[in-house]
Amino acid sequence: MFLEKSTNNPSHNRSGWIEVVVGSMFSGKTEELIRRLNRARIARQRVEIFKPEIDKRYDETNVVSHNENSIRSIPVQNASQILLYIDGMDVVGIDEAQFLDDDLPAVCNYIANQGIRVIVAGLDMDFQGKPFGPIPALMATAEFVTKVHAICMRCGDLAHYSHRTNASEKLVQLGEKDNYEPLCRKCYTAVKTGFKD
Ligand code: ZN
Repeated sequence: MFLEKSTNNPSHNRSGWIEVVVGSMFSGKTEELIRRLNRARIARQRVEIFKPEIDKRYDETNVVSHNENSIRSIPVQNASQILLYIDGMDVVGIDEAQFLDDDLPAVCNYIANQGIRVIVAGLDMDFQGKPFGPIPALMATAEFVTKVHAICMRCGDLAHYSHRTNASEKLVQLGEKDNYEPLCRKCYTAVKTGFKD
């Protein structure tokens, strides 16, 4: 489990940093984001959460994780819009960050440079197993990267692929519960090569 740095430092010259939580579908990355944000709230820190407007599953204004543990969020159309809201914030959370644009790493670094803690959750790979959008560059520049795993639906091993179970080639596909299954490397490779064991 990720343990937070102590933020009870009275110094006014505090420095910010970036945490990234990545994983496949059903890996619990949003739950982990919410866990960290809730703990910051308990510490009476000012917290704001953002998510791309494209992610309209379940609810317009809430980050809703699969276990219904929700937190209010601000929808943004691009990464730079987050900068309009950071004044006075201690912690900035961003969910479903893979859908944001390539400005995301620069935006997060700018926010962290203002002394703000930035926590970003997103898919590390798309359904084809390719690095997803701005996430790889963000992982490279963050202080802390946590990779969480789902459970393979075919063999019960640790899964890190989000296998799409329908034939669509669209990168952004919502309502994911019906259309994806988390798979481990062995099962994903078997599916991709049509190998039946
Ligand atoms: Zn498996």
